[in-house]
Amino acid sequence: MAEQALVFDIKRGSSEDGPGIRTTVFFKGCPLVCVWCQNPEGINQEQELDLNGNEVGFWITLEELLYRVKQDRPFYDSSGGGITLSGGEPARQLVFIHHFLKALKADGIHTAIETCGLFNYERFKEMVLPHLDLIYYDLKLFDDFQSRRHTGCSNKIILENFSCLISEAKIPVIPRIPLIPGITDTEENLSSIAHFLRTHGIEDCTLMPYNPMWQDKLKQLGKTATYSRNSFLSPDEENSSIKHFNKAQ
Ligand code: SF4
Repeated sequence: MAEQALVFDIKRGSSEDGPGIRTTVFFKGCPLVCVWCQNPEGINQEQELDLNGNEVGFWITLEELLYRVKQDRPFYDSSGGGITLSGGEPARQLVFIHHFLKALKADGIHTAIETCGLFNYERFKEMVLPHLDLIYYDLKLFDDFQSRRHTGCSNKIILENFSCLISEAKIPVIPRIPLIPGITDTEENLSSIAHFLRTHGIEDCTLMPYNPMWQDKLKQLGKTATYSRNSFLSPDEENSSIKHFNKAQ
């Protein structure tokens, strides 16, 4: 049993990572390397030092993590909230999150995961799915060449896993598309994803507007960005993304 996890943040009082008031645990390590990654400190699956010599990421035992997240139990109960696993990619630490989620469910706490979708489906289905109430599933790039180019990985397994979850999971699977200017927000990409979703009978998904704040975090890690957009989306850009998405048959 993996008794410790490598995490890089535990955010209490979150209202953005699922229903109600939540605590979000950010697991370190991700199989993708998206050029716009909002949490670049979550990509490396080992502890690292930032430019000030501070350690990024810390090990935490299952017991300690359960103790910490349960401190806000009254807020979860009164708001319909719970715990969200984020990252990085939480499924990289599969054995630990299996035990973590199982313990939370045994205590009647609502659980959600934010995933990039690149995991071993059978293991996820067996060890994680039974202990989840909600999945936020990122869909970034539909074209495999573009996926390899901008995220460092093929999207084949990601799309296959999504299809499997849609047909087998008995819980809500909410797709999310980050709107990255010039990369994911193109008409071709958004209409392809919209079409893919509709073939699965899904009409709704969340479009997540670009946020450039990650660039400071990357600098703090002593790394150089290969993507340079440093402003938020304009209202026009947001509207045309929505239009592209809605136009697809
Ligand atoms: S999948 Fe998410 S956490 Fe992983 S590199 Fe991409 S944006 Fe970052």
